[in-house]
Amino acid sequence: MTQPIFLVGPRGCGKTTVGLALARVCQSQFVDTDHWLQTHAGQSIAEIVEKEGWGSFRARETATLQAVTAPSSVIATGGGIILAPCNRQFMRENGIVIYLCAPVSILVGRLEAFPQEGQRPALTAKPLSEEVSEVLAERDALYREAAHHVVDASAPPEEVVIQIITVLDLACAS
Ligand code: ADP
Ligand code: MG
Repeated sequence: MTQPIFLVGPRGCGKTTVGLALARVCQSQFVDTDHWLQTHAGQSIAEIVEKEGWGSFRARETATLQAVTAPSSVIATGGGIILAPCNRQFMRENGIVIYLCAPVSILVGRLEAFPQEGQRPALTAKPLSEEVSEVLAERDALYREAAHHVVDASAPPEEVVIQIITVLDLACAS
């Protein structure tokens, strides 16, 4: 599998966790756009948003996506990367896009169990379950539009990896 694999989905769906495991199995490079962006900017996403606003962060995110895209890579993307039509088109045209799909209850459970303090500013001032529910309602169609394949991300990480390898093998064989 030499084409880049882009993992898309909301916060907590497992893009980083599953991406790392998938890269290990496929002996590919692993890149996390949020991580790469923060390292290169020398500041956290929360700081960028606070100082420069969401628009600036989104522009940096698009530049990051294009900079990290390379053959034999697994690329874990930020949850909002699919908001920009140019990002959706770029991923579809330059690799294979996998949507890690999980219900709100699972996402909330994971985010509550492993809150990554300061990693991302809250998108709204609402309770977590309401925020996750609203964000997913707004973005689910965009994740599906961007994706070549949708997998069930509520399964344990190793099972999600097997699902991804299976759809990729089937896609290669067809
Ligand atoms: P994302 O990068 O999509 O925001 P993460 O990979 O950071 O999601 O996962 C969020 C949390 O949920 C982590 O603490 C991780 O251990 C846990 N997690 C991720 N994927 C799974 C999974 N398939 N099953 C159980 N827990 C998971
Ligand atoms: Mg992540």
